[in-house]
Amino acid sequence: MSNAADTNKASPTQPRKLSTVSSWDFETDIAIVGYGGAGACAALEASDADSDVIIFEVASEAGGSTKLSEAEIYMGGSGGTRVQKECGFNDETEDMVKYLMMAGGPQANEAKVRCYSENSVGHFNWLVDKGIPYKNSFHKERAIMCLTDDCLLYTGNEKAWPFVEQAKPCPRGHNIEAEGAAGGPFLMKVLTGHIDTRDNIDVKFETRVVALIADEDNEVHGIVIKMNMKEYTVKARKGVILCAGGFVMNDDMLQKYAPDLLKATEKIGNPGDMGTGILMGMGVGGSAINMHEGFVSLPFYPPADITKGILVNSQGQRFINEDCYHGRVGYHLLQQLGDRVYFILEASDDFEPPMFLCADYAGTGETLEELEAEIDVPAGMLKHTVDFYNEQAAKGQDPLFHKSAEYLQAIKPPYVALDCTPGRGAFFPYFTFGGLDTTINGEVLNVGGTAIRGLYAAGRTTCGLPRTGAGYSSGMSVGDATYFGRRAGVEVAKQAAR
Ligand SMILES: Cc1cc2nc3c(=O)[nH]c(=O)nc-3n(C[C@H](O)[C@H](O)[C@H](O)COP(=O)(O)OP(=O)(O)OC[C@H]3O[C@@H](n4cnc5c(N)ncnc54)[C@H](O)[C@@H]3O)c2cc1C
Repeated sequence: MSNAADTNKASPTQPRKLSTVSSWDFETDIAIVGYGGAGACAALEASDADSDVIIFEVASEAGGSTKLSEAEIYMGGSGGTRVQKECGFNDETEDMVKYLMMAGGPQANEAKVRCYSENSVGHFNWLVDKGIPYKNSFHKERAIMCLTDDCLLYTGNEKAWPFVEQAKPCPRGHNIEAEGAAGGPFLMKVLTGHIDTRDNIDVKFETRVVALIADEDNEVHGIVIKMNMKEYTVKARKGVILCAGGFVMNDDMLQKYAPDLLKATEKIGNPGDMGTGILMGMGVGGSAINMHEGFVSLPFYPPADITKGILVNSQGQRFINEDCYHGRVGYHLLQQLGDRVYFILEASDDFEPPMFLCADYAGTGETLEELEAEIDVPAGMLKHTVDFYNEQAAKGQDPLFHKSAEYLQAIKPPYVALDCTPGRGAFFPYFTFGGLDTTINGEVLNVGGTAIRGLYAAGRTTCGLPRTGAGYSSGMSVGDATYFGRRAGVEVAKQAAR
């Protein structure tokens, strides 16, 4: 153990000064922080480019949130992936670009969107080549995730207003050929299987990266790690890649940067999602952007039929087209004034409660007046909303939010209201989107937009493809982590060793 480790205390936001490091305990070309999807893909590409890599992982096994996920991946463009083509979909790159630009909202990053869309079919082929199976089948039911081994599904707002008006819809969610929610474990098993065969990749588990090592110009030369209760220094001759996930498990960071997300109820992620990668980048001047944004879901479907109901706020007014993605609904739900949100439905004999929502019954009524009284909405407001909705639905239109005709149907008595108010029982999972500002090759940018030498990042440690909950589609996160992880690996491998 080097004596340098004792000379100044290291923490994520306080890089160890290079001048205080008198010797290195480990040396490698590339040090990767975190062994989830981004870290694994970065390591494989760097290894292919003949660089030596060490991956440092705080947990005792690989996977992170990638392993916990279904690993649905958003892919398309260039005429379509093999699966899209076989299922009869022609997906032009420009349509994917248009959609992803809308999905990113005002903070969309065009360079990342273009790079991802133009190379997405290549990424699909890379995954297939690695051994990820995708069946040539289309799952046409409205679903949050595919619980069968079918592959292709709509996983976002492609068919919903206003997206449908600007970008030709196409299903781009690719589900691995595995039954149930087994995609993430499968993906990580395949990636780690390859890594295990590479002589130039070493993995150190149960090893926490505690700080970067940087010179007085903030150029990054290595990392400080903690292993078996001792600190060690690691020299990274070509660079460090931060792939340490997001910050959903760090309440202080959530309170500081994304307090609105705390209204949701279930953090989804792994215990390592403490934001240390982001903090380390900030500690050497990295710019952290879009930190207030995240994915918040109200998983109200399946069954798809629930989409025929309406969501109303405390004022008894609609605020969204219910045929859009559950994450867009969650985003807009958190923006509502007042302290209640309800799903209003017809309590028909074959009424099936939503599979994942876990919402309590807030009230029932033979008439809308009765229901209004039970759920404490100002008298007349809910009746006005439902009467107007029904009148327009009879004409096959929704002039307020343009719900598609497929789900437009008058809501008839008896009525039921499900309580979708955050904190009152319904399931509201969430995770963060904010992170380090990076180029398409993973270079971490400072506030002036200049790349910090020696420092790269990918996955949820960065602000990548997913930019806002208002436009998120399932598959954008694992897609972003794996694809931009690969690019970072290629880029760092090209650097001259220092
Ligand atoms: C239940 C669930 C379902 C999801 N489903 C999908 C889906 O189907 N499609 C989709 O696109 N997205 C999905 N997501 C989101 C997606 O899984 C993640 O955003 C993405 O996988 C993040 O990948 P990553 O490589 O950036 O981070 P991770 O896979 O989380 O890897 C980060 C790793 O870094 C390690 N680490 C952190 N700090 C340190 C440190 N200081 N030192 C050493 N190691 C450290 C962590 O232990 C972890 O192993 C889902 C998420 C969850 C939780």
